[in-house]
Amino acid sequence: MQRSEMLESLKSDEYDLLIVGGGATGAGIALDAAGRGLKVALVEQNDFSEGTSSRSSKLVHGGVRYLEAAVKRFDLEQLRLVYEGLLERRRFLNNAPHLSRRLALMSPIYRLWQIPYLWVGLILYDLLSLGRGLGASGFMSAKHTLAKVPFLNRSRLTGGVQYFDGQFNDARMVIALVHEAMRSGARCLNHCEVTRINRDGHEIAGASVKDRLSGENFEIKARTLVNATGPFCDLFRSLDGAAKPLLQTSSGVHIVLDRHKYPPPEVGLLISETEDDRVLFLLPWEDHCLVGTTDLPAQITESPCATTGEVEYLLRHLGTLLDPPPQREDIRACWSGLRPLVQDPETKGSSQLRRDFLIKEEQGLFSIAGGKWTSYRRMAEKLVDRVTAVRKLKPLPCRTKRQPITGLPAGVVLKPLAKQTLDVAHLQNFYGEAASLVAEMTAEAEGRLHPEFPYLQAEVLFAVRYEFACKPLDVLTRRLPLALLDYQATLDALPLTVQIMTAEMGWDEELAFAMLEETRRRLHRESLAELS
Ligand SMILES: Cc1cc2nc3c(=O)[nH]c(=O)nc-3n(C[C@H](O)[C@H](O)[C@H](O)COP(=O)(O)OP(=O)(O)OC[C@H]3O[C@@H](n4cnc5c(N)ncnc54)[C@H](O)[C@@H]3O)c2cc1C
Repeated sequence: MQRSEMLESLKSDEYDLLIVGGGATGAGIALDAAGRGLKVALVEQNDFSEGTSSRSSKLVHGGVRYLEAAVKRFDLEQLRLVYEGLLERRRFLNNAPHLSRRLALMSPIYRLWQIPYLWVGLILYDLLSLGRGLGASGFMSAKHTLAKVPFLNRSRLTGGVQYFDGQFNDARMVIALVHEAMRSGARCLNHCEVTRINRDGHEIAGASVKDRLSGENFEIKARTLVNATGPFCDLFRSLDGAAKPLLQTSSGVHIVLDRHKYPPPEVGLLISETEDDRVLFLLPWEDHCLVGTTDLPAQITESPCATTGEVEYLLRHLGTLLDPPPQREDIRACWSGLRPLVQDPETKGSSQLRRDFLIKEEQGLFSIAGGKWTSYRRMAEKLVDRVTAVRKLKPLPCRTKRQPITGLPAGVVLKPLAKQTLDVAHLQNFYGEAASLVAEMTAEAEGRLHPEFPYLQAEVLFAVRYEFACKPLDVLTRRLPLALLDYQATLDALPLTVQIMTAEMGWDEELAFAMLEETRRRLHRESLAELS
């Protein structure tokens, strides 16, 4: 469905549910609710997943570190969260196999007493998955550990304990969820901001919306509003006069290292000793080494940026772990995301806050906040259960526990993928069954976007035609993760991307130039050079 058709439908129809926010939470709810027979609309002020949902560590996990906290404080509630996380981890990997995979992780060990401590903890992690585990944890010698991560500092290394979690493509998962929701009848549109909540007396009547691309204002009629705005949850509630905040936000920064010096390791690393009692991850991701993350109280903003202090924190910890220690010039990209954390008056530091979610109803406005990516499905199910119970609706049963997330655009005809020509693994991992459609488009746009990356010019076409990409960074950050991997390569690929988009979208020269300049400014603002 074209953007103009989608807009018409949003303006003219009346919806059971209007979801505000197109991240993991909003897209998950759209899929659940549409699958249960509700009439659903979703709007996102920026691009789908442009908020926290494309800036995660990309792990599908039950939460090893929450398990440690649960055991240390004998906290059964926290233990339940880990158990549920592990259950959702299994469902996630089953339902979206092309976008997710099993990932081996290892915790390096420097003191002998850590071996039983970590190993027993990880065995408990395996046990809690109750037969839905991804492989048994085990001890690895120092020699074996170094073979898997050659740039690990070998001094004092005693060995490592290996365990398994999942890894996934977060931004593409949101697009896939949006496609699935739309195939079940939902209407979803990006670059549309809700500016006002409309009530008829006390009853929700819908919302006023601004199309940020055209500047047009219009209204969407809906009987129930779902606030799935992540870190913006309290800001959105304040449109309706709510005052008492539900959330605290903290920023999490990732850096990506130069792959020539630090090639992606065979296993991910979990570093369980930091100066502020947290854990860090060093992960193989898209043929690069991804390191994260920090956890500091943060202001809410649409484009969070890393600070010098946060990058130095990561480099300082890597300094003792890796040989040679990485320097600032070894960083190819860095980016920041905001965690929406549920307020808990009993905890102090944000790393100690529970990663559970809450649902709050305020006269027809349902706010959902907190949680983690791994739990998006369960959060959506609970929210739709609650809405339908309060609204006395009679929905179909929830289908998402075993619903494949193919991410296929509606109405496309598939052909088998020819194996000989392209990077088949990349296309299948990104597009699943739709890989053949992208391959076909290479007849219209041949070649790669950048010589050092597998991403194709045809993927820009595909992103515009089938994946709702409207701006260069919709393509270069979220349909493809280039801007999260390499700042300079993104600048290099930008003119070609704008050229392809210009031809496809019919931009005039002035608009094409404006897009190019706006993107350069945005990239520069978020780049390492601009760290404050
Ligand atoms: C650094 C970091 C690492 C993480 N790593 C992991 C991990 O490895 N595994 C895991 O399971 N979880 C992880 N998480 C948690 C996970 O990423 C989040 O829980 C999840 O992405 C939150 O999704 P969301 O949809 O609630 O919020 P968001 O993705 O932020 O979506 C909310 C959307 O609402 C939109 N919006 C706001 N106001 C309006 C408005 N007025 N009109 C229209 N739209 C609006 C915003 O633009 C935004 O796109 C991580 C989080 C962070 C910060």
